[in-house]
Amino acid sequence: MITFYPGPSKVYPQVGQYLQEAFESGLISANHRSGEFMQMLENTISDLKFKLNVPADYEVYFVSSATECWEIIAQSLMIDSSLHVFTGAFGEKWMEYTHRISHRTSEASFDYNADLILDKSAIFSKNEIICVTHNETSNGTKVPDAFLPELRQKFENLIAVDATSSMAGVVLPWEAADLWYASVQKCFGLPAGMGVMIISPNAVERALQVGEHKHYNSLLFMRENFLKFQTPYTPNTLGIYLLGKVMQQVPPIAEVDSLTRQRAAGWYAFLAEHHYELLVKNDPVRSDTVIAVRDTKERIAELKHFAKAEGITLGNGYGKEKEVSFRIANFPAISQDEIEILQNFLAKMSSR
Ligand SMILES: *Cc1c(COP(=O)(O)O)cnc(C)c1O
Repeated sequence: MITFYPGPSKVYPQVGQYLQEAFESGLISANHRSGEFMQMLENTISDLKFKLNVPADYEVYFVSSATECWEIIAQSLMIDSSLHVFTGAFGEKWMEYTHRISHRTSEASFDYNADLILDKSAIFSKNEIICVTHNETSNGTKVPDAFLPELRQKFENLIAVDATSSMAGVVLPWEAADLWYASVQKCFGLPAGMGVMIISPNAVERALQVGEHKHYNSLLFMRENFLKFQTPYTPNTLGIYLLGKVMQQVPPIAEVDSLTRQRAAGWYAFLAEHHYELLVKNDPVRSDTVIAVRDTKERIAELKHFAKAEGITLGNGYGKEKEVSFRIANFPAISQDEIEILQNFLAKMSSR
């Protein structure tokens, strides 16, 4: 089976060998307070910062998932409220999870074909956190490339970004936001079960100002541990090890980014040429990493069925467009050969 599911998604083929190495090294039996573990954690963080070009003064912590980050932000960084900018199901879920904890959220949702525009009237106070979903995995939209840098210029608010399905796939404007997070089962090409959180000195300052220490995953508690290359609870040692290995293996993010964008352009041209309807009509908000195709419910079911018979897993639709779309992951671990197999299949199907 080859899979184009946008998470969990195809893992890098080298992961098989890394798993074996992790086992043989004895590291996955080692105590997480041991020097061996701490060294491995330190190396993984430094390789990740190097390959993804993360600013030196941003800190990196590992958590269990992107979902956990929703809670950490609501618990540890909130003063007044949060403003949620989104176009689909994941951004909406972030707002809902936050609301259950903070009871103070406001919504700036957009149709997925709309241009995102945020003016000063949307902002309630300077303490409000602006929460942006960088790549909306559910419907294949992204925020336009200039959006976050413009927000940064216009507002002094703390900005938090869900980059779960774009981090490690495209270049991110790190300095344009204070808190970024992702999970490893998407563009990182790794097995599910870990989240990556990247935070700016401003976000650290906010956490200190809030001073929240009530939870096992309170940001300040996480930080105290990670600054010593330790973790507040027994971590996903294997996940951290594999992430380190993959970060050593992959090219610098600028190279990955150009391949991702080139492949995305290829996909959009291919789909248009073969008369597939894109879910997203507005070009600047079309995702580079998750491509969504729209058709009737019957036709979508048929395409998924025939794909499966040929050993290809397409991503199901998600959220409102669940029945009338399928998704194609354009993640770096997917090979050119696999893309060609799917394109041959779709070309064949377009004429029947
Ligand atoms: C997958 C995804 C999540 C949830 O990730 P988990 O690892 O399941 O917590 C959140 N946001 C976006 C945009 C996603 O694509």
